Amino acid sequence: MSTLLANLNEQQLAAVTLPPQHALILAGAGSGKTRVLTTRIAWLISTGQASPQGILAVTFTNKAAKEMLTRLTAMLPINTRGMWIGTFHGLCNRMLRAHHRDAALPQTFQILDSQDQLAAIKRLLKTLGVDDEKYPPRNLQHFVNHCKEQGLRAGQVEVWDDYNRRMVELYAAYDDQCQREGVVDFAELLLRSYELLQRNQLLREHYQHRFRHILIDEFQDTNVLQYKWIGLLAGGPERGSAAVFAVGDDDQSIYAFRGANVGNMAAFEREYRVQNLIKLEQNYRSHGHILGCANALIANNAKRLGKNLWTESGEGEPVRVYEAMTDGQESQWLVEEIRSLVAEGHLRNDVAVLYRSNAQSRVIEHALFSAGMPYRVYGGLRFFERAEIKHALAYLRLLENPDDDGAFLRVVNFPARGIGARTLEQLQDAARARGISLFAAVGGLSGAAATKLAAFTGLVARLRDETRRMPLTDLVEHLIERSGLVAHFETEKEGQERIENLRELVNAAAAFLAEEGISQDVPAREGVAVADAPMAGAGDAQPVAPIDPADGIEVLAPGVSAVRLTPLAAFLGHASLEAGENQAGEGADAVQLMTVHSAKGLEFDAVFITGLEEGLFPHENSATEPEGLEEERRLMYVAITRARQRLYLSFSQTRMLHGQTRYNLRSRFFDELPEGSLKWLTPRVGGTARGFGAPREAWSPRWESGAQHASGGARRGEWREFGHSGRDTGDNGRLSQAEQRAALRFDRGVPWRVGQNVAHARFGEGVIVGIEGSGEDARVQINFGRQGIKWLALSVARLEPV
Ligand code: ATP
Ligand code: MG
Repeated sequence: MSTLLANLNEQQLAAVTLPPQHALILAGAGSGKTRVLTTRIAWLISTGQASPQGILAVTFTNKAAKEMLTRLTAMLPINTRGMWIGTFHGLCNRMLRAHHRDAALPQTFQILDSQDQLAAIKRLLKTLGVDDEKYPPRNLQHFVNHCKEQGLRAGQVEVWDDYNRRMVELYAAYDDQCQREGVVDFAELLLRSYELLQRNQLLREHYQHRFRHILIDEFQDTNVLQYKWIGLLAGGPERGSAAVFAVGDDDQSIYAFRGANVGNMAAFEREYRVQNLIKLEQNYRSHGHILGCANALIANNAKRLGKNLWTESGEGEPVRVYEAMTDGQESQWLVEEIRSLVAEGHLRNDVAVLYRSNAQSRVIEHALFSAGMPYRVYGGLRFFERAEIKHALAYLRLLENPDDDGAFLRVVNFPARGIGARTLEQLQDAARARGISLFAAVGGLSGAAATKLAAFTGLVARLRDETRRMPLTDLVEHLIERSGLVAHFETEKEGQERIENLRELVNAAAAFLAEEGISQDVPAREGVAVADAPMAGAGDAQPVAPIDPADGIEVLAPGVSAVRLTPLAAFLGHASLEAGENQAGEGADAVQLMTVHSAKGLEFDAVFITGLEEGLFPHENSATEPEGLEEERRLMYVAITRARQRLYLSFSQTRMLHGQTRYNLRSRFFDELPEGSLKWLTPRVGGTARGFGAPREAWSPRWESGAQHASGGARRGEWREFGHSGRDTGDNGRLSQAEQRAALRFDRGVPWRVGQNVAHARFGEGVIVGIEGSGEDARVQINFGRQGIKWLALSVARLEPV
């Protein structure tokens, strides 16, 4: 016990050992919030104040939940399996499986990830003959999710005009479709579980008795519904049967766009009459320069609860800044830096490359791949979201539930079986007319089309038969072969990688079983006890609700119960829920690539924040409004505070994104960092990046030998390193002789000026609004009126004066 509390500072100790009352721990990044939360769980259990079953802990990602369980087992010799520690989605999924009948769901209900959801919505619009230009599927998707995150069913949404009324009708129709097909989307997991608790008093009381302690990490990013869900479980703010221990940092609230409500922190303090408010201000993660950057940056936000972090660990190394000419060169540099970090003894696992949007990962991946450097991408097109994996999962889903129309449509003609759009329309009409699933409707058709469809349903029936007693890994392997998927990709030019991914699915299945403690040999389609079920009233909870064997719940031993679920159904649930995070091959030592959003809560020895350019980070969609900009800044704060020892910031003058070359200014965030903490690896140049789109105040000098660097062939050591630069020292603002010569050539040879009218072959006439760079690198910004404002390279743009 004493070792448990040994390494905590005074505030942390106070937080860990608070009496069982509501508490709010408000603290900055790296101050030990997650550590405090985990240690508190261990302390509550080891002092006998709570049983493992009496605790519910919510984290933001599966990765974080796993991490918590690992830390917990290291602190306490207990079996953490079956403990209610997970994400909101994961816990709701568990609850719905256990009470699927009360929740009006089939036990094998499938979870739609956002891709599946969009496909389901498109299908709905088509079925109803809705104009998808007027009602774009993505908009409807956002609308539905937003309503659900607010806890609103279609009938509860306020209607204010015809358009909105139609959206609400479509929301209702979408929910009907999901219900018919036995599928739920992510937001539905939460809403359905909330409604279950709200309507079913017996169940609600059961859980309220059971969970004496509810602990929530990353509380700043909870949404309205999650807040209400916690309220139901906690017995409401007034009665307060459970103690709610919320941990968060308002400066790290980065999910407002998905309905997160940082106001939940203030609401919690007020509504739960929180007496225990603890702030932690000592940072244990990052060295001084890194922390200095984080503090200085976030100080630019107006809306803050206000706190400052300090560290005892010394200044450490300055933050390195690198300016590249191209994104390719940026990645090249990155590879070299990572190589030397590894040579210094860092694990690749301890190096993270962060970017603002997924699209940026491609060029980085390319460079790492070419250099033979192992890496792993989190987020982006994740393993379980790849098309070939989706196809395989669709077959698996049909084995569980042939009435899953989404799965049916995905593979009915994949691999191709000559089933055309018209046949499918016919089938859909027939199914709708009879109110049955597509699979069931096949029998009622006749003619040539029916024969082809019957061949498909026959295949599924055969697969169901053949796999009846197979263990999960055999089943997956059997299915990818017999469905014809492997054979199909063998005929494709780039199919090899897809086949490898399909085979990786077999490994993923094996890994899943191992993780869940399920034997590799049990038949995948027969029930097995996979999760702790709540109904037996374990530990200090009273068994209030009767156990219904029809729910698939059984008592394993007094106080220990389990849901019977097939390993296949459990695996499919895992594939949907965990899709967002895990890559196959986890565990190997690999550089970690991810968006800033998915880096939340994590830490690494060395962190690269790449693509720090105006329009990218801060993102162009957010930079124009103060609210949006503050959220971008919090995101940058999250990014910076992931680093323990080394932080690298990089940006590039040009970048290929979505098939277009963009000319970017460096991010305004650079101007918000303390100069003394930065070390520019390339000369600091130009004026401020503020006022995106305006010409730079100073003309930008480049490399002394720009061509050499532009080639991307430069090696470490050949680079000139520049010390801390100051905008006011003027040192780096001065032009080298070569650059002056280039500038003169530029000035004499090409007399472009701001305000000049020009014509471009493709964009038509426009007016120059900005000029920068020189020689090869010279570019102009032109306002083409309706065609928009564009940066063009003078060397290629072929402009004509008019
Ligand atoms: P974030 O806001 O990024 O989620 P956090 O506040 O949750 O950060 P933790 O991840 O819990 O912070 O802790 C940051 C690091 O500091 C971890 O490596 C943790 O083990 C370490 N740490 C926390 N408290 C102490 C302490 N008292 N002594 C030594 N190390 C500590
Ligand atoms: Mg944390």
